[in-house]
Amino acid sequence: MDQEKILQKIKEELFYGSSDYTKNQPDLFVPHRFQMLAPSQVNHYLETLKQGLPEKEILIYVHLPFCFSECLFCNSFPLAADTTLQSDYLQGLLKEIDLMAASGLFEGKRVRCIYFGGGTPTLFPNSAIESILDRIRAVIPLTDGCSITTEAHPATVSSKERITGLAQAGVNRISMGCQTFDPDLLALCNRSNSETQIRQVVDAAHDAGISVNIDMMAGLPGQTLRSLANDLAAVERIKPDAVEYIRHEIVNPLVVDLYKKRPELVVSDGTLFEMVLAAQKWMKASGYEQNGSYTDDRQWAYRYYWLKEMPIIAFGLRTRSYSTTLCYDKHEDLATYLRMIEKGIPPIGRHIVLTKREMMFRTLMLQVQLASGLDIESFRCRYFEEPFELFRELFTRLEKLGCLETSAGSAKLTECGAYFVEDVCDCIIDEALKVDSGGAVRIPHSEGSRSARLGAQIL
Ligand code: SF4
Repeated sequence: MDQEKILQKIKEELFYGSSDYTKNQPDLFVPHRFQMLAPSQVNHYLETLKQGLPEKEILIYVHLPFCFSECLFCNSFPLAADTTLQSDYLQGLLKEIDLMAASGLFEGKRVRCIYFGGGTPTLFPNSAIESILDRIRAVIPLTDGCSITTEAHPATVSSKERITGLAQAGVNRISMGCQTFDPDLLALCNRSNSETQIRQVVDAAHDAGISVNIDMMAGLPGQTLRSLANDLAAVERIKPDAVEYIRHEIVNPLVVDLYKKRPELVVSDGTLFEMVLAAQKWMKASGYEQNGSYTDDRQWAYRYYWLKEMPIIAFGLRTRSYSTTLCYDKHEDLATYLRMIEKGIPPIGRHIVLTKREMMFRTLMLQVQLASGLDIESFRCRYFEEPFELFRELFTRLEKLGCLETSAGSAKLTECGAYFVEDVCDCIIDEALKVDSGGAVRIPHSEGSRSARLGAQIL
């Protein structure tokens, strides 16, 4: 099948547009299977967790969920900046690290990557980030060359001193949200960041030995293909070390309100498809790797090892941790989170023990996001199951769509499949939920379809 035909099929038969689209860093999500954990059960659960974490190397995620901004495209629903609350949160977080360490969970382990996510982690001063890193180093050794990323709003890293301080604290990668350089779109989205400003941050970071990722978006309110092409040209001039091009998820009430008032700003699914395609083609031609195409850990080590199923231990409010067999979430409510820590209890709120079937689907879903695809032989050795039998229907469908190619050793995405990797992953989750789900269906990140949120009259 030639590429034009494959793309047409993907558009008609696979593309989830922005209506039922799940999220842009896909992992297996089976919310109906979570079980609540009472505070009195947490210590016992930690013993189970220790058994389920035989790996020597882990990833650490640190959530700093505060922000001063109100971007219309935001999907992380941060807490409003507040110095007193942030100070309480920081103290709680440091204690949480100690509590988890006291359980013995980190004995014999090393940290491969640390990722500060938000909110805007750089709303906290460098001293706070340094104190968290010091606390982590005190309880778990870091590997040589441990990748330490912080997400950053451009306005918070605009001075050289700020960037030098981050480097001195140990940060060696910054991931900066830009999304677009189109001033009209930025104004609609409550943002402002110019190409010059971003280039200055990138240059200062490079001078300090920090690599930079830029986050960009397709499908923003009122965005056109021409505007997206201008953005690609701007990123080309800036030359960051990595780029992540994500799809705008219509989840924020602010953007829903905007669309209700100005429905003409909604990007149609047809245009969105062309935008995703243009961005992905440009990423490939420019040598940028992301979900669907990672070959190694150079551009985003944390995500690469996540896809390799390295366990993620997350600290902070509303975080999700994964081992290959377990998944657990911290509490979502700040008061509960802090109260549990104050009582000396790690603030774990709910958990899942993955079934073998869920584990196998998770392995498939993560490994197809690597350029090498699913490693058939290691899958057989690990699960004593035959992947071509187990995933027969799914593989057949994806092959017919031109998204997947299989051989004796691997099942990997084709070039077009990799362009639409999130849609392939949504398809895999839907298949995973077909059995043993008690009728549950995949919940888009927004927990509701776009048409439900906006009202059918607009679409
Ligand atoms: S800066 Fe980031 S975290 Fe803050 S509102 Fe904007 S998108 Fe959300």
